Amino acid sequence: MLYTTQMDAARRGIITKQMEHVATYEQIDVEILRDLVARGQVAIPANKNHHALTPYGIGNKLKTKINVNLGTSRDCLDLNVEMEKVMTAVHLGAESIMDLSSYGDTTTFRKKLTAECPAIIGTVPIYDAVVYYNKPLKNITSDEWMNIVRMHAEDGVDFMTIHCGINRATAHSFKQTHRHTNIVSRGGSMIFAWMELTGCENPFYERYDELLEICAEYDVTLSLGDACRPGSIHDAGDISQIKELVTLGELTERAWAKNVQVIIEGPGHMPLNQIQANMEIQQTICKGAPFYVLGPLVTDVAPGYDHITAAIGGAIAATHGASFLCYVTPAEHLRLPTLEDVREGIIASKIAAHAADVAKGIPGATNWDYEMSEARRNLDWEKQFDLAIDPEKARRYREESTPEKEDTCTMCGKMCAMRNINKILRGEDVDIME
Ligand code: SF4
Repeated sequence: MLYTTQMDAARRGIITKQMEHVATYEQIDVEILRDLVARGQVAIPANKNHHALTPYGIGNKLKTKINVNLGTSRDCLDLNVEMEKVMTAVHLGAESIMDLSSYGDTTTFRKKLTAECPAIIGTVPIYDAVVYYNKPLKNITSDEWMNIVRMHAEDGVDFMTIHCGINRATAHSFKQTHRHTNIVSRGGSMIFAWMELTGCENPFYERYDELLEICAEYDVTLSLGDACRPGSIHDAGDISQIKELVTLGELTERAWAKNVQVIIEGPGHMPLNQIQANMEIQQTICKGAPFYVLGPLVTDVAPGYDHITAAIGGAIAATHGASFLCYVTPAEHLRLPTLEDVREGIIASKIAAHAADVAKGIPGATNWDYEMSEARRNLDWEKQFDLAIDPEKARRYREESTPEKEDTCTMCGKMCAMRNINKILRGEDVDIME
């Protein structure tokens, strides 16, 4: 093998087949892409053992990508139902799936995903450790934490969220500052609890070089988890979050020194007026590494509608530097999402991602809007459905309300401005009272 990771290849001047694929999809020059990968500004998560993968690049000069969290839990452990959600997510345009399974036969599900699913596959190995070792958290050893990472890497996982930044210093700061909503990251809370129960340093921080060796061997992209992401508007941008971000910045450079690709996780809950500054701080501290945001949710008061609170924040975050949006469903804070919740969450995220791409001038983004507005002007309903971000819903809505004049819709009927102006410009008569 001439190279270890995509980053290693890029730095050696090698154009991989994954880079070629990404450059074509993004409509950018492959040499420009290679340079971005070499400098860590774009990650191409592509585990050597994920043979079904269609590769995508993640970076703020590329189209904004979205991730969908799925997986079994103690209350929902039907693998077939989860697999159906995975395939729906891919069909709706999700570029990435995170398997957050925390109950049942997690190994079989993970292997099925990397064998069959073309999306980028991510995991949080520490969730799985508790299931796999089947013993109390405090009895899991440092070696066992590392082994579960290796196991996921061998299974073909393209990126892993690992909470390396919550070390003893960050944990101390968290305890001193009395956050309103403490630690809301599931993985972060587990590592914090493990450190408190054992009195030991975070093994992923202490043995970071070993972790990097595993990532380099399989080309796993390291998603540096934000254990201290704000879980409420009140905690946004507080000392714990920023202190952890500074540690993530240091860890980013250590990863790049070993040719390991990195993405950085971010907030969380954050008021609109703080999002731009937070994205810029991250880009500065983490030297432009791709930023993966979990929302951010711009208000805490809309359970049942958090796909909307997250899409508002996600669009602003992606406009100002984030490149990867984790979808949020209407079920957030309430329950495990159903298939319909998954659909709604994906569509909301896709809207946020595309809105940011339009604002950033990403190649090809505005063409989509141009074509849609052209179809709208021409009252070409089939084309509008084809171009819709959710064709099924657009078609269903139109079919549920039949207009008197076939080429209009029931909103304005004979007063349809599109139809009447088209007729006037063709020199035809218009009688809206006929
Ligand atoms: S009827 Fe009104 S809303 Fe419907 S297509 Fe015509 S202008 Fe648009």
